[in-house]
Amino acid sequence: MNTQTQSPNKNAPLIATHVPRDQHPISRDMISDNALKVLYRLHKAGYNAYLVGGGVRDLLLGQSPKDFDIATNATPEQIKSLFRNCRLIGRRFRLAHIMFGRDIIEVATFRGHHEEGEKETGKQISAQNQEGMLLRDNVYGSIDEDAQRRDFTINAMYYNIADFSIEDFANGIEDLKLGMVRLIGDPEVRYREDPVRMLRAIRFASKLDFDISFETADPINTMAPLLQSIPSARLYEESLKLLQSGHGLDTYDLLREFSLFEQLFPIIAEQFTEEEESNTERMIELVLESTDARIAEGKRINPAFMFAAMLWYPLEAYAYRLMAKRDMSYYDAILSASNHILDEQVRSTAIPRRHTATIREIWQLQLRLPRRQGKRAFRLLELNKFRAGFDFLEMRGEIEGGETEELANWWDTFQQAGRDMRQAMSNDVDGAKKPRRRSKKKRKPKAD
Ligand code: ATP
Ligand code: MG
Repeated sequence: MNTQTQSPNKNAPLIATHVPRDQHPISRDMISDNALKVLYRLHKAGYNAYLVGGGVRDLLLGQSPKDFDIATNATPEQIKSLFRNCRLIGRRFRLAHIMFGRDIIEVATFRGHHEEGEKETGKQISAQNQEGMLLRDNVYGSIDEDAQRRDFTINAMYYNIADFSIEDFANGIEDLKLGMVRLIGDPEVRYREDPVRMLRAIRFASKLDFDISFETADPINTMAPLLQSIPSARLYEESLKLLQSGHGLDTYDLLREFSLFEQLFPIIAEQFTEEEESNTERMIELVLESTDARIAEGKRINPAFMFAAMLWYPLEAYAYRLMAKRDMSYYDAILSASNHILDEQVRSTAIPRRHTATIREIWQLQLRLPRRQGKRAFRLLELNKFRAGFDFLEMRGEIEGGETEELANWWDTFQQAGRDMRQAMSNDVDGAKKPRRRSKKKRKPKAD
């Protein structure tokens, strides 16, 4: 394939379409008070200030945006001098965060292009590495240049607080109507600059229920391995946005279709089959379905639960190998495999420590829940992570049937039972100690 490193029109200026206030539906009462405050303060200080990105896109679609991002020609230092509640963050992107309690409004200075030829000189200051990936992105520029650096046409619309008009730089309004996710510029160049854009294409397609344009979709399968160069902490953040935003199941299907899932979770993908019916695949579907349902009901979700579930059968497969190789018990093999699987996983997608601790607890509970004789059952019930461990056991029961399903049913009944019945159930488990004679005798009134 002839891969061009530079699109002929990469830096060709975009032509903005100006959409006056009376020709679009966004009104100020759709925008959060805090975002409006920031926009107005910048405007009154003489700067240009725009709402941009997902805020404009979602409002035009009649949805409520997750957050409001602002773009301006004021530099980070100028922004800081306007707001007492401002923090400058980021090394690669220097951004201003304006804090209103828990609500944070992100303000970015327009970004421009790096000097052409900078790359060819091979100097240390190069903004791209040899693969064309952007290492720095901190040159300020005009609004046109800023639009050109954005990823998709539907993310490059700017709502101007000066006259409430919209500047649409890349025909985003047209693509919103078509329901199309389309990269700005040459897709291969844009993916090389930042491979995470492949994941973002999938995310917006499933979140908005849009198609991905042919040119934007076509290179993904072959370029997917570029994600290996992305820091695992960033991939972790992206994987949460992909799988825990209410459209996890659709997103998973698309990620697989585009060979992206295996980049995020290589040890899970090892278990994938042609028929898509392995235990791993059935578990992923169950856990994503339940995550999507919980989000729809406004319930809280715990990433640790999802990862524990997705990684369980890969963990078990590895444990079986240990048992065969090293003559280990199932119990010891699972514990030992837990370390291996988590070490492997964090290499691609870095699940943070606070979650890996919970994942281990959920896994360990799978070993402990069968041992429920006598007092053990009561003690297990008291554990912090009992609920998560039990919910997961139920999912395994649904997949595995047999003993696992019976065990899940036992725990279900046990939780709903009253004290006496619980006592009877836990005494009745195979291997439960028979009540000692002596205590039985004690209870009996002595016969004269
Ligand atoms: P949402 O917040 O609903 O997930 P969003 O479009 O606002 O979607 P953000 O991650 O908040 O996404 O980014 C805000 C804007 O910044 C995007 O709309 C886009 O214009 C730009 N942007 C974000 N990430 C990239 C990227 N990797 N490459 C180019 N532009 C980007
Ligand atoms: Mg956003």
